[in-house]
Amino acid sequence: MSTPGGPRRQVEARTEVCVGAGQCVLAAPEVFDQDEEDGLVRLLDAYPAAALLPSVREARHRCPSGAITLHDGTAH
Ligand code: SF4
Repeated sequence: MSTPGGPRRQVEARTEVCVGAGQCVLAAPEVFDQDEEDGLVRLLDAYPAAALLPSVREARHRCPSGAITLHDGTAH
């Protein structure tokens, strides 16, 4: 699998600001999960396929704490 644009992480999920609302998991279960113990976000795939990016954008939109960042060249 190639990653044009270099090794930069495309999706970030910051557990330090996550409030465990789980909205990201509902929107993009292929990319996000929640820790079984503390409920905080876990990033499953930092470089999701292009087909999943709309779901990632939806997750970012739904996240109440702004924990999700997507570096895809579009405005936030
Ligand atoms: S939607 Fe945001 S606050 Fe909720 S679990 Fe996901 S990253 Fe955390």
